[in-house]
Parts: sequence; C-alpha cells; structure tokens
Amino acid sequence: MKIIDILNQNRFSLSFEVFPPKNETAFVSVRSAVEEIAKLKPAFMSVTYGAGGGTSKYTLDIAKDIKNRYGVPTLAHLTCVSSTRETIGQKIKEMQVCGIKNVMALRGDIPQELQDADRSGWDYRYAVDLVRELKTADRDFCIGGACYPEIHPESANQADDIRHLKEKVEAGCDFLTTQMFFDNNLLYNFLYKIQQAGIAVPVIPGIMPITNANQVARAVKLSGSFMPQRFKSLVDKFGDDPAAMKQAGIAYATDQIIDLYANGIKNVHVYSMNKPDVAEKIQANLSDILGK
Ligand code: FAD
Repeated sequence: MKIIDILNQNRFSLSFEVFPPKNETAFVSVRSAVEEIAKLKPAFMSVTYGAGGGTSKYTLDIAKDIKNRYGVPTLAHLTCVSSTRETIGQKIKEMQVCGIKNVMALRGDIPQELQDADRSGWDYRYAVDLVRELKTADRDFCIGGACYPEIHPESANQADDIRHLKEKVEAGCDFLTTQMFFDNNLLYNFLYKIQQAGIAVPVIPGIMPITNANQVARAVKLSGSFMPQRFKSLVDKFGDDPAAMKQAGIAYATDQIIDLYANGIKNVHVYSMNKPDVAEKIQANLSDILGK
C-alpha cells in the first residue's frame, strides 16, 4: 500500500520508525524488536538507511520482513550522497524486486572526509536529484522527503531552506516527514510558512520520545532541536532515575501528539528507535483517539 493513500484516509494514525542492525550479530535482536513493533499494526513502519554510521545493506531485509511477514506497509529510506548513479540504480532495482512501494528519498549527511571535496562532479548533490531519479517513467514509487521545522543546519536561513524544499516537492515528493521537534509551536509556524510558499503535500510530524537523559544531548546535537524549559525540567528532575525518566519522556511525547491531533494533524510518525515498549505505551496512551 502506498503511504499517500494512508495519509489521504483522513483518520488519526501513528507510524513507527526502526533502524537496521549495524552487523549480522545484531540482526536477531533488531528483527525481534521490529516484530514486536509490527504487531502493534501501525499505519506504516519506516526503516532508516545507514544512519548512525552503520551499514545500509540490512535496510531492505528489514523492510521486506515488515511488509511480507507482518503485512505492515513499509517505507524504505535511501540516501544518495556521494553515491554513483550505478549504485543507486542497483538499489532501486532491488527495491522494485522486493515490491517496495514507498521510498524516503534523502541526501544523507556529507561524510566528514568529504566535507571539503569538490562536489560539482557528484551524481547526487541533494535529495532532489534522487527524487527525480525515483520519479522516472518505469518506476511507480510513493516518495517521501525530509523537512526541517527548525531549518536544516546547513541552510543560511529559512527562506532558502523552504525554497529548496519546494523544489524537492515539485520534483515528485508525495509527502514530507519532519525532523524531530520538542515545541509544537515551531511546527505550526513552519506549516504556515510552507503553505504560504505553495507547498501542499501532506506533512507528517516526527516525534522522538526521549526516554533517557543521555539521549537528550545526542538528540540536540543530531537535530539542532530547541529543548523547551518544560522538557529540561523533566530531565533535571528524573534524569538520574531511568524508570521515571522513561515514563516522563513517554508522557511528554504523548502530550505533544495529542496537541498535534487537537490542532488538526492526522498522522504522526514516532521515532520509536527499535523500542517496542515505548511504541506500545504511546499507542496505548492514544487508544481512544487513534482512528478518529
Ligand atoms: P536535502 O533535501 O538535499 O537538503 C540538504 C541541505 O541542502 C538543506 O540545507 C537544503 O536547504 C539544501 N539544498 C537542497 N537543495 C539545494 C539546492 N538545489 N541548492 C542549494 N542547497 C540546497 N539520514 C540517514 O543517513 N539515513 C536515514 O535513514 C535518514 N532518515 C531521515 C528521515 C527524516 C524524516 C529526516 C528529517 C532526516 C533523515 N536523515 C537520515 C538525515 C538526513 O539525511 C540529513 O538531515 C541530511 O543532512 C539532509 O538530507 P535531506 O534529504 O534533507 O537533504
């Protein structure tokens, strides 16, 4: 099933994200976490690609499992930075063979060693190049793109960032998923601005439940997200008590999601980070709202 058809159902739904194992040894534990999350029957599940420095070869294996064994619609991520057309062409073929219908088209982070490289000869400089490639005639993918309510860290300003986002959408993105954010007002402001810019595809807010104190610094470093004082107080109070911090982080994420729903958002993507218990608790907290 295509993600865009799920989004158009106009019913409140949750989707969950998982990441692939970094090596064969971790495959079994990741697969079991994925299975637990899939059993919750989310609207769809996304599988990241090579994030956190891991290899990318397991993305498709996990995505196939989710789709074929558990019957959950699947979104496979694909990054293109510093890849050749040949490599990406091969990955796209593999996706087609596996029956993957939904692809999150990403540039990816520029590796440290290539930061100063001359990029003029690269086959893919930005995600928009991958979107165009996925959109060619013999391919029938539903394509997602990433967007940044608090601006992508490489952008000089929000106007430029939104201009590039519009170009990406016009190239063929069917929907967008946001970077994590911890203050919903930043999202509402962003949605207003992109609507003014003429971007009309559905936007799925991405919510990251922070369930331990160490995650906070990592999340801020990776995403550059603003941490409201209300959230910092939770970490100050519960940071040294893992069980309490987990409960408080899940409550905070739930509260964000309820506020999004109350303000007209129909689909929320949860960065569940291979944690079935977190996914399950958030879903249970929303049990009387889901599907409405
Ligand atoms: P782009 O859309 O190419 O944007 C990158 C920067 O380039 C932005 O500043 C943009 O404004 C600018 N830009 C775009 N087009 C142009 C242009 N024509 N001229 C000049 N500037 C331009 N990373 C992974 O490695 N694996 C994953 O699975 C993964 N999943 C993600 C999922 C989501 C929902 C999000 C939000 C991020 C994800 N990331 C993932 C991180 C992502 O790869 C990085 O944030 C990366 O730095 C940018 O990727 P992008 O696709 O947003 O790039």
